[in-house]
Amino acid sequence: MKEALIGDIGRYAAHDGPGIRTVVFFKGCPLCCPWCHNPEFIAGRPEIAFYPERCIGCGDCRDLCPETALTVDRIARLDRSRCTGCGLCAAQCPARALEQVGKIFAVEELDALLRRDILFYETSGGGVTLSGGEPTAQLAFCGELLQRLHRQGIHTAMETNGLFVWDDFRAACLDHLDLILFDVKIADPDTHRRITGVDNTLIFANLARLAAAALSSLRALQGGKNRPPGGRGSAPKAPGPGGAARLAAIFYRHRYG
Ligand code: SF4
Ligand code: SF4
Repeated sequence: MKEALIGDIGRYAAHDGPGIRTVVFFKGCPLCCPWCHNPEFIAGRPEIAFYPERCIGCGDCRDLCPETALTVDRIARLDRSRCTGCGLCAAQCPARALEQVGKIFAVEELDALLRRDILFYETSGGGVTLSGGEPTAQLAFCGELLQRLHRQGIHTAMETNGLFVWDDFRAACLDHLDLILFDVKIADPDTHRRITGVDNTLIFANLARLAAAALSSLRALQGGKNRPPGGRGSAPKAPGPGGAARLAAIFYRHRYG
């Protein structure tokens, strides 16, 4: 049984691909960009979010914590250096001042959840987008999930930073993706390394490989060997000959470099 650590699931999204979509935010990312929109999904482990304005100071969390990471003085205080993210406190907090970020899902469980919105995908030309964090950091799970979604004719997209082993990505995911949204952070290698903490050589190599795969797929579509991607009923029922038919590279403008 394949499992993954998921940070959140967003329904009725309109900005992560065509139509109305459900977005799966994987938890864990090998980059550490200072402008990250979802910093709570960078660490690849469960974490605790604390909302002090909700806390009523009841002390239940302090009494439950096996790591003595919580003290209460009018409101709770969390010592993150002691917290393991076990979630015991969040499960019992009566005011929802503590919430666990990151939950393990089995692929069957997530597949069933995503199918709840199939009517919205059908009527809007939407589908499912894998995002994060970085979905390819949990590649085998992504591959099986995408395969299941495609079998049901659901349009699939992935937002990625491009830092993956190409052969593994191609084997697990490429043929089951209709759209790849490739986030290019910084072109200059030294600045990329300084700002994100990671070398970008592999990222640009993967962008070039994906562009070649998308071109080959489009040529096959033009040749009538495959059907175009779209909503249920029009997405390929079998893997496309060149992988994802559409690749969008997103180049960020920011003040770094
Ligand atoms: S259990 Fe919740 S409401 Fe009570 S002290 Fe802890 S954080 Fe605050
Ligand atoms: S998540 Fe677990 S270790 Fe962390 S504060 Fe809550 S009960 Fe303690």
